[in-house]
Amino acid sequence: MDVKETDVLTENLFVKKDEKPFLIAGPCSAETEEQVMKTAEGLVAANIDLFRSGIWKPRTRPGSFEGGGVAALPWLKRVKDELGLKTTIEVATPLQVEKALKFDIDVLWIGARSTANPFSVQEIADALKGTDIPVMVKNPTNPDLELWIGGIERVQAAGIRQIAAIHRGFSSYGKSIFRNEPYWEIPIELHRRMPHIPLFCDNSHICGNRIDLKSVAQYALDLNYDGLMTEIHYNPDHAKSDAQQQITPEQYRDLLSQLVFKRESSDNQDFIRHVASIRQHIDELDNEILKLISNRMELSEEIGRHKKIHQVSILQIKRWNEILERAIEFGRNHGLSERFIHHYLSAVHQESILKQTQVKEGDK
Ligand code: PEP
Ligand code: MN
Repeated sequence: MDVKETDVLTENLFVKKDEKPFLIAGPCSAETEEQVMKTAEGLVAANIDLFRSGIWKPRTRPGSFEGGGVAALPWLKRVKDELGLKTTIEVATPLQVEKALKFDIDVLWIGARSTANPFSVQEIADALKGTDIPVMVKNPTNPDLELWIGGIERVQAAGIRQIAAIHRGFSSYGKSIFRNEPYWEIPIELHRRMPHIPLFCDNSHICGNRIDLKSVAQYALDLNYDGLMTEIHYNPDHAKSDAQQQITPEQYRDLLSQLVFKRESSDNQDFIRHVASIRQHIDELDNEILKLISNRMELSEEIGRHKKIHQVSILQIKRWNEILERAIEFGRNHGLSERFIHHYLSAVHQESILKQTQVKEGDK
């Protein structure tokens, strides 16, 4: 269930009229009234669109700081009333939704752990019925696009019309420079499937450090993301959660000043003509590539017929490894990353096995 063009609201909080991305900033957790107020005061000058703060924190291990809880709701009310900033918090249960609405929180977000659990999302969605509060849905912790789309659909089905998606990266096992692997292809595909859902990048939870915040934010903007969510603390070294990835309001303003905001298109005629001709060339090359892949599949089928006659197994790991190693080397010499070659050849290999299986089972 996609949002149709006709369903797009004329007034949508998440859709900005200027070129600046939608900016969400604030501490990981609301720790004290002073910390919330000092951080928010520092952010007024950054001209943010939404002040974020976790008041119920889903911590991995028990005993870690779990946010200020209900006691923190009046602090956010002060941010709104005294500083004029709209506020947003994460909600994970119907009771939390109820409390947030009672304290006039402007926007709610569903966290990554909740999105991973359809029962949780449904409970939250049921609690949202009858309200018109804007909601942001973070990607699930696991790299599962359908689960993310499903979460958004559950919120849509509850009647919420202003919905945005937040890309905060995905859990992965093993070493990575990221705290949460971005797997950019997943949000890109989400955007293709749900083009009217604004897409924001939570660079803080992708990075898990301060150094890479700028490059990840710029990368997202270059992919035409609609906004950024970044964790800010007036005294980050002493933050009670996610200290290593938070920056001060001043550092945030400096970061913003270094970002290049790009537009999706331009009305410059030279630009339009030039891009159209390059795109035509790209389409032609894509057709050529698909024709070549189709030729390759015919060869796979021929091999499949021989394997069938000689009763040889379809999958031969040694041969597959040889193909992969050779292609990675070839790709490297032609400026293609190992990761890309791996993805590409895995897809080709799967299709080839399918063709050979069809031959074996007599469909071809
Ligand atoms: C957060 O934004 O503070 C948070 C807990 O994020 P996530 O759900 O992405 O882990
Ligand atoms: Mn955090």
